[in-house]
Amino acid sequence: MPTFQTVRGMRDLLGEEAQTFTNVITKARETASLFGFKEAVTPHVEPLELLSAKSGDEIRQRMFIFEDLGGRQVALRPEFTASIARLATSTLKNEPKPLKLFSVGTVYRYDEPQRGRYREFWQSNFELMGSNKPEADTEIILLTDRLMRTLGLQSYAFKIGHIGIIRGILSQDGVDEKTQNAVLQRMDKKEYELALKLVDSEKCRSTLQGLINIKGKDWYDTIEQINVLVAGYEKAKAAAENLSEVLKLITSSAELSLTVEPAFARGLEYYTGMIFEVYIPQLEIALGGGGRYDRLIETFGGEPTPAVGCAHGIDRVVIALQTQNTAGSINVERKVAAVIPITESVKVEALKIAQLLRERGVSVEFEIMGRRMGKALEDADKRNFDYAVIVGERELKEGTVVVKDLKSHEQTTILILDLFEKIKN
Ligand code: AMP
Repeated sequence: MPTFQTVRGMRDLLGEEAQTFTNVITKARETASLFGFKEAVTPHVEPLELLSAKSGDEIRQRMFIFEDLGGRQVALRPEFTASIARLATSTLKNEPKPLKLFSVGTVYRYDEPQRGRYREFWQSNFELMGSNKPEADTEIILLTDRLMRTLGLQSYAFKIGHIGIIRGILSQDGVDEKTQNAVLQRMDKKEYELALKLVDSEKCRSTLQGLINIKGKDWYDTIEQINVLVAGYEKAKAAAENLSEVLKLITSSAELSLTVEPAFARGLEYYTGMIFEVYIPQLEIALGGGGRYDRLIETFGGEPTPAVGCAHGIDRVVIALQTQNTAGSINVERKVAAVIPITESVKVEALKIAQLLRERGVSVEFEIMGRRMGKALEDADKRNFDYAVIVGERELKEGTVVVKDLKSHEQTTILILDLFEKIKN
């Protein structure tokens, strides 16, 4: 028999790595709660029609699509936004705005597998619907900053742009929407030459080239440069003004490292405004990103609803934590005790003691292998437990147990009543 393996691009998470994933998810959930986002749990499988409605060619071509037994065309979700937009235009249609929803789970894309790029990966996703104000864009960046910071990531930095600047230039110079999308896809991959080749107008090409050359950490100065470049382009100018309002709010409410890159684009076609990504210096790939998408809800048949959102790639965040050696620092410290009954007769009492400890937050490994005490102790030692609680008939009669500190090898007999205090300290 051949041994089975996971499907290409999909992984098992075990041990410490699985624990780190869980910790990141916990922090994401806490962040959601701190910023007033309510959790939405949606299906992994959605109608193909919904998912392909506005995801953009890029993602559409990389979906896991299949027909279910009822003949329905369905697909594994490649992102959360479509599901949230579905909710916003159906079940939550009449909810007061803003609608703030958080989701976490796996998404699926047929990407070429490599480190940090998988076909099944985890995202924490935040969507804020109903506000066109720069405050909303700011909140999305601030919550990403907060999440990265509480995870203990060092020297992460934001890259911020605005899709309206690029589209504003292209549309004023007569480039149709389909070509615009193709240009943006090339620019997303930093294939600037190929992007420029798609544009006929010489003037447009040179303005775009000018935009590609602008990049700066001083946001005010960078916006000034953009303003000069797009002087004759009304829509691009308005977009630059909007970006400058967002940047002003972000930089005056948080200390974060950011670069303004007006030629930066993102794969998803639905963006209409500010877009961003977050990085650490050691990794080339983005840990998360997002942006404003003011027209998606109406293409889903809802009332026109401005919206902004972001997704964090948890697999990559975990790699970042491992790279910076901070993965361990977010583990919850918890004492582990082995509870070992010496004889059959004290099994029930021993189980009660195990339950008592668990109730107070001590992690307990009850001896379920029926081993003799010596073997059980050896095993507890090997597996790095903190304490062994040995339950014997004679001690029980006096309301006591024997506690062995597996680090110092000290052994004491103590009252069961004092057991928790002993282990806690
Ligand atoms: P997106 O939904 O494309 O905006 O991506 C949001 C985040 O998801 C990215 O910044 C990455 O951190 C993560 N991500 C995207 N594609 C993959 C992938 N194939 N494997 C792992 N993480 C990914």
